[in-house]
Amino acid sequence: MHDADCIFCKIVKGEIPCARLYEDDAVLAFLDIAPVAPGHALLIPKAHHADLFALPPVLGTALTAAASRVGRAVMAAAGATGLNLQMNNGPSAGQVVFHAHLHLIPRQAGDGLALWPGRPYADPAAMAAMAEAVRQAFESLK
Ligand code: 5GP
Ligand code: ZN
Repeated sequence: MHDADCIFCKIVKGEIPCARLYEDDAVLAFLDIAPVAPGHALLIPKAHHADLFALPPVLGTALTAAASRVGRAVMAAAGATGLNLQMNNGPSAGQVVFHAHLHLIPRQAGDGLALWPGRPYADPAAMAAMAEAVRQAFESLK
């Protein structure tokens, strides 16, 4: 259930302190030590699973249910009007701690935080080809 070398497992076990926000049998929420914005919180399953792909669906459900409630509380406390949910999966996606977690980032209009830039596909055929490739990959994963 826990990984001895995992920093978030140590937080779950109380071996490392955290600014705890919420917990139940399945999940724990606490403030990120280096917030993107004040109130930036992390929501984790208590059991160790490295990322989204390793996470049992029932824990995904527990995380999203808690994200709604904790997210509303974070927004209220931070005086925010919006919330970004982010999950980094894999080093190339910016994951540094390999215990699955959701980032809850409170947002206000004009807070200066930018989302990643979008660029259109070169043409409609390129978009259709990508959609077909994903559908085929999905089938082969079944
Ligand atoms: P990742 O890049 O893996 O999605 O995000 C890991 C997050 O964990 C970072 O935002 C980082 O600030 C946070 N973090 C890393 N170590 C600790 C810690 O010991 N305590 C807390 N509260 N947050 C941590
Ligand atoms: Zn862990």
